[in-house]
Amino acid sequence: MHPRLAADLARLPDLLRTVGLSANDLLGRLHEQPVVPPLHLPGPGPLPEEGAGLAEALTEFTREWAPLLSASAGPRYLGFVTGGVTPAALAGDWLTAAADQNPTSALDGAGPELERRTVGWLRELFGLGAAHEGAFVSGATMSNTVGLAIAREWLGERRGVTVAEEGTAALGRVRVLSGSPHSSIGKGLSLLGLGRASLVQVPVLPCREAVDPEALERALAGADGPAIVVANAGTVNTVDFDDLRAIAALRERHEFWLHVDAAFGAFAALSPDHADLVTGLDAADSICVDLHKWLNVPYDSAVQFTRHRRLQTRVFQNAAAYLGPLGETPDPVHLTPENSRRLRALAAWFTLRAYGRDGHREIVQRNTACAHALGRAVEAIPGLRLLAPVRLNVVCFTLAEDPTAERLADLAADLKDDAFLTPTTYAGVPALRAAFSNWRTTEADVHRLTEALRNALGRPAPAP
Ligand SMILES: *Cc1c(COP(=O)(O)O)cnc(C)c1O
Repeated sequence: MHPRLAADLARLPDLLRTVGLSANDLLGRLHEQPVVPPLHLPGPGPLPEEGAGLAEALTEFTREWAPLLSASAGPRYLGFVTGGVTPAALAGDWLTAAADQNPTSALDGAGPELERRTVGWLRELFGLGAAHEGAFVSGATMSNTVGLAIAREWLGERRGVTVAEEGTAALGRVRVLSGSPHSSIGKGLSLLGLGRASLVQVPVLPCREAVDPEALERALAGADGPAIVVANAGTVNTVDFDDLRAIAALRERHEFWLHVDAAFGAFAALSPDHADLVTGLDAADSICVDLHKWLNVPYDSAVQFTRHRRLQTRVFQNAAAYLGPLGETPDPVHLTPENSRRLRALAAWFTLRAYGRDGHREIVQRNTACAHALGRAVEAIPGLRLLAPVRLNVVCFTLAEDPTAERLADLAADLKDDAFLTPTTYAGVPALRAAFSNWRTTEADVHRLTEALRNALGRPAPAP
């Protein structure tokens, strides 16, 4: 064994304790460091010929790189929809790396069963019935893509084509209908050979991002033959929800595959005040839910659910002499694009075991209360204008006067010691969004952001 490896192995317990303390320092600074740090990149060094050992690598990382990382795990990182890492999820992730399992097949351990049971817990968490089976993937983009891949196979069956065998070209033209699809839907369609142009944007309700069910019915009537519908449960700009029950009811008159992108909106099911936003979710043929967002497990993790395992395994089966047969409960290798993968389920298992539905409900309710508090504050600040009602956990707002993209970028830059917000355009108006999904965020953080907003708006404009 190389002497550096042997030395680290001999000191492993001490080294792991030091790494633990160093992680604790990193977490401790989340409250105080600027949310977006100034970037002073270290000069590039050559590939080390002689290693320095773990302790020295840790010292260098802590000195040179750690201060340059954003506080994205912290309570005032409100960009995109992000989420942090609960203590139990962090422990689960560390142990995932320590155990270094490849839960591809059940030949050598209980990894696949742990994944299956965790998927079962998640299905209950979101109020889905037993007909939905699922698997872990890296994120909502991959979850959407897997759902669309199964939809493509289903569509093939309707047209007498086995896409998994004959390829997408045999399928002919496909229409994918959606009101306010997430950008990842286009990417998935491109990847699947259906093409971005297969996405048809259906009109939304007035002043909403939710699809107009009547317009959707017209689009279905105009699509010759079965189509794919992507319903949205939680849009990123304004967290709007399609009426899932009304959409599912259209199946009485039209044949279509219903995929629901509920990347973070599915968590509405945890809050009694908001659960009605996702009634009807169970009726979907496939569902996407991100876990590295509102479940507060570390990147990267998401789950995909479907009622159509037969079609799923037709797409993703990976027949090899050394892997188990498909059987009644197919191994994870036959369900998603990855073959080898980490035991992603463990971080989710840990956080669900440690805090339960109740603990995770509390996070959703507190985040939602924070969004409402910020929404009220925005309405009370004369220079700002709320662009949409706060429905769940996102506040979408703009400047009351002259809301150009440049002025909003300046405002976001003024805030970045205190909070990180991301820009968007909603209904043609440049805007900022603050998305609450971190388990550590409290009303004190909302107060700090509100003060920062007041200060930034009170500041005189810089001389031209
Ligand atoms: C975040 C998000 C995605 C993409 O998720 P990734 O985890 O970044 O792949 C898709 N749809 C919605 C609605 C999202 O919020």
